[in-house]
This record gives sequence, C-alpha cells and structure tokens, in this order.
Amino acid sequence: MILGMDPGTPQCSRAGCREGASLSVVWRNPRIHTAERRKVWLACAEHAPYLHDFLASRGFPVAIRAGLTDGTDVDLPEAAA
Ligand SMILES: [Zn+2]
Repeated sequence: MILGMDPGTPQCSRAGCREGASLSVVWRNPRIHTAERRKVWLACAEHAPYLHDFLASRGFPVAIRAGLTDGTDVDLPEAAA
C-alpha cells in the first residue's frame, strides 16, 4: 500500500543512499516518546535491516513494515531485547 504523503518518490533515509524507499522502519524512543508515538524512517530494501539494527541496538522498539506508512497502524514490540 502506498500512502500519498509525498508528491515525488520518497528516498531511503540512509545517508548517501538515493534509492527509492519501499519499506518503513517504524520506531520510538521510550525515553522521550509516549507509547502511542511513532517515528518512521523510509528505507530501500537494502538498508531497512541496517536502520532496524541501528535502532534496536539502542534498545528502541522498532519494526519493519512493507510499503510506506506513517506508523499509526504498526504495533511495536514494547520489550526491546
Ligand atoms: Zn538505501
């Protein structure tokens, strides 16, 4: 599902990457965000796992979702490993 958030093709959030985004890395920082809050980094297929691991290593709840989303329909795991 593609949401019509941007007029152009959204780009991957990884620094230096110019690929079009096809995945959403949805996360929040439990220290500053409420449980309902969602942050989204759009990513290409190559970099979504990198961004996921970057956030997971900080102990943030994070999930990768296919397609582009604003995160409001994504349930995050509350107990980060
Ligand atoms: Zn990328």
